[in-house]
Amino acid sequence: MEYNPAVFTTADRKFKKMEFITKAGSLQPQAEDAVLYLLPANAQPGADQTAALLFASLTEGDTFAAAQTMSEGKLRPVAVCRPAGLERADLEKAAAEAAAWAQRQASVAVDFSVLDETAAALAAEVFVLAFGAAVYRFDRFKKEAKPAKLQNAAFYAPEHAAAVQTALTAAEAALYGINLCKDLGNTAPNVCTPQYLADTARAEAEKFGATAKILGKDYIREHMGAFWSVAKGSVQEPFLIELRWTGAADPEAAPVVLVGKGITFDSGGISLKPGEAMDEMKYDMCGAAGVISAFAAAAKARLPINLVAIVPTCENMPDAGASKPGDIVTAMNGTTIEILNTDAEGRLILCDALTYAAQFKPAALIDAATLTGACIIALGHVASGLMANNQDLADRLLAASRKSGDKLWQLPLFPEYKEQLKSNFADLQNIGGRPAGTITAAAFLSHFTENHPWAHLDIAGTAWKSGKEKGATGRPVPLLLQFLRDWA
Ligand SMILES: [Zn+2]
Repeated sequence: MEYNPAVFTTADRKFKKMEFITKAGSLQPQAEDAVLYLLPANAQPGADQTAALLFASLTEGDTFAAAQTMSEGKLRPVAVCRPAGLERADLEKAAAEAAAWAQRQASVAVDFSVLDETAAALAAEVFVLAFGAAVYRFDRFKKEAKPAKLQNAAFYAPEHAAAVQTALTAAEAALYGINLCKDLGNTAPNVCTPQYLADTARAEAEKFGATAKILGKDYIREHMGAFWSVAKGSVQEPFLIELRWTGAADPEAAPVVLVGKGITFDSGGISLKPGEAMDEMKYDMCGAAGVISAFAAAAKARLPINLVAIVPTCENMPDAGASKPGDIVTAMNGTTIEILNTDAEGRLILCDALTYAAQFKPAALIDAATLTGACIIALGHVASGLMANNQDLADRLLAASRKSGDKLWQLPLFPEYKEQLKSNFADLQNIGGRPAGTITAAAFLSHFTENHPWAHLDIAGTAWKSGKEKGATGRPVPLLLQFLRDWA
């Protein structure tokens, strides 16, 4: 079936509308509610006998058990969740099991009454994100949508309602960003074009009171030689997206600037990729999706920071006008680049976006990109790669990673790696050979970020899953949003 992009607009993007609420009193389930008790290992189960029996039935290592009980002449599903501890990772593991059960119920009442304030707030965040992930569907291209049954979840934390409510509101903003990121990544590349990405970014920014500026082909061709060298091989018009949120008390305060790689389809260009799994190259805009979505979530949460998001977006295609291996192009800052492989295009569009970002005098400059297959070899699908020219910024990102559970691992950026980018014919070449491919890509970008604290996130292994569970993960939205919250 052919999809006409014109038929799908940003308005088609619809999330499952789930309602999350906090209740101040002790557990009082409605007639239709399923009930879930969160009971850490040393907890005393309350008056609910079914819950007490389930809790007692859990053997070593079990975290979840469910049953049905009669309540007012109706069957009521009851479950207990026993995390191994109250660290985030423990809660996440238990919440994922609970969410698989919860998504089959129409509404769930969750009892947090045995938790202290810190644990209740963290659990609220983790459970909102787990329930949100469990009910996420991407069915806009299917004739029939099959949404999850779960409509709402109420959290009962009698003594800590205010803290739970704050955590819940923050988690809802994060979930909004994660869902937006997944939707953008999953959307077919004939629909999610650079134009679509620009339209969506503008709509999302304006929805939350931020501003958008979109520059098109003429600006890019005239000023951004490296970016243009990638874009010119496609019939799709490239765009440079700029979003601005002024939330800090001082509107002139130096902003955090996020830059995201937005290749809406990467064929490799003239250095064509092999055909196998090439459909997954629609995910080569996940850096852009992550940056736009973290921006939207930050604006939705009205974070008191100044934030700029920059996204260069185009296709990488092998058209008659496409760049060839051996071509030399001039980047926005005057650096000449010999293109030895047209599939190393991400760094070509990013380097001009990073030069463009300098005008904002960023307090921190962070780019996110599905940049190198080498990063998947190094870190697999578990951790994103981090490289930085400033250790304080790297440490802040690592702290945000530990706090959000969105895993990150730092790789070195020693000056020696720059040697691999020396060209006989230009200032730089766009590939550094097989050794340390993730680092030499970052070393290339570092050439364009010398005047600012800068960090690079390689999300090639973490932005989407392949195989049966194929789909965008929503990463690195949790990491970026946590970083921005901590910055505020
Ligand atoms: Zn590529």
